[in-house]
Amino acid sequence: MDNAQQLVAKQREFFNNGYSKNISYRIQALKQLRQGIENYHQRILNALRADLNKSEAEAYGSEIRIVLGELDFALEHLEEWAAPRSVPTAAFMPDGISTIYPEPYGVALIIAPWNYPFQLGFGPLIGAIAAGNTAVLKPSELTPEVSRLTYDLIHEVFPEEYIAVMEGEVETSTALLNEKFDYIFFTGSTGVGRIVMKAAAEHLTPVTLELGGKSPAIVHHDADLQLAAQRLVRGKFLNAGQTCVAPDYLLVHKDVRDELLHLIRDEIQDKFGDDVLQNADFPHIVNTRNFDRLSAFLEGSDALIGGRSVREQLLIEPTLLGGVDWNSPVMQEEIFGPILPVISYTDLNPLLDEIVRRPKPLALYLFTEDEELQKHVLGKVSFGGGCINDTLSHMTSHYLPFGGVGESGMGSYHGQQSFEVFSHHKSILKRQA
Ligand code: NAD
Repeated sequence: MDNAQQLVAKQREFFNNGYSKNISYRIQALKQLRQGIENYHQRILNALRADLNKSEAEAYGSEIRIVLGELDFALEHLEEWAAPRSVPTAAFMPDGISTIYPEPYGVALIIAPWNYPFQLGFGPLIGAIAAGNTAVLKPSELTPEVSRLTYDLIHEVFPEEYIAVMEGEVETSTALLNEKFDYIFFTGSTGVGRIVMKAAAEHLTPVTLELGGKSPAIVHHDADLQLAAQRLVRGKFLNAGQTCVAPDYLLVHKDVRDELLHLIRDEIQDKFGDDVLQNADFPHIVNTRNFDRLSAFLEGSDALIGGRSVREQLLIEPTLLGGVDWNSPVMQEEIFGPILPVISYTDLNPLLDEIVRRPKPLALYLFTEDEELQKHVLGKVSFGGGCINDTLSHMTSHYLPFGGVGESGMGSYHGQQSFEVFSHHKSILKRQA
């Protein structure tokens, strides 16, 4: 494997020769990628099982299916997205013709995290290819099996001067970030996002930062509680809570708190069995460091549901914590595990004020039938995106650009937006000679 400098130089030469800009080349590349993923289907499932203990159903549903969906959508629409776009010209220039030409940035760098290590590496890559870039993908070292298969798959399908994978730890990321890329797409923590943006500033490289944060879920007194319980349990405990858009904490109206907790307990039992620690398909925490960080939240806490863990297996059962307020340690950082603190309210407004004072969340989920309240919350709180009466689903739509705002990130992707984010939009005004 070349070092970062050589690799970027090779890719730049390849890009400058124009191969990757060709639309039929891009379509062919996406088809080859699709075939590669199909060939690797079982290995992807095995790797996700080995790295995170994801069951086949969870691995397919939350990783492979999403990537294939994005791939098919891009294949279906690429020609139309890449076509020059005619726009009106100002009336005082009647001979003018105005056109916007989407063009690839050039050599793109994609840095991926470990929690959805397949989806969050290959998803952005689809956008980079569709838009006509070359790309270097750096998977997370914390999910070594997925990292290896990512390297093998890409190495098998593409020449490295077009698409390459550089495996490794922080040093590899740092070496890559020292190079001049034309676009950087980073998914990971807010802290590392700052490092990436600083490095990008050296070369004035534009960035997308898909970061994390504390995403609230709010259940109002008029909510359909059965549905709220189902959707909270699905959203919070998928991948054992190691999901960037998982509800991080629960704000529930005092009048429905007890009933909601009761329904959540039943739902956990229905979904994961009587003893989740014996459920062979419940994902584990990625490593001991994260396990210990999460365990600290459990020590001496008031577990309303769950609360047990097994360090040797890196397992923590779905847990709801009471006795929590805004100053509790669990409310100071993104939890990123199967622990859901619960705060009850009678008046939602002071809680909304508190959310607004804090870093802008990546997601927010509101369960209520009250349209006035829906409008009020959407108008008052800035956050990346979210759902009313659901969790997570906004990020599965090709038609909803997905991303954060403020400390939860900048820029967005999915569907056509994945193409746009990896494209420069070149505006041309043509006049009669
Ligand atoms: P991370 O920031 O620790 O690591 C992400 C990537 O950056 C990895 O490839 C890692 O090798 C690299 N990296 C780590 N330290 C680095 C450094 N000092 N310099 C350069 N590169 C470095 O994040 P993570 O732990 O893999 O992922 C968890 C975080 O990602 C959570 O905060 C989560 O909310 C967020 N996340 C966000 C999204 C989203 O779409 N917004 C999706 C998944 C995860």
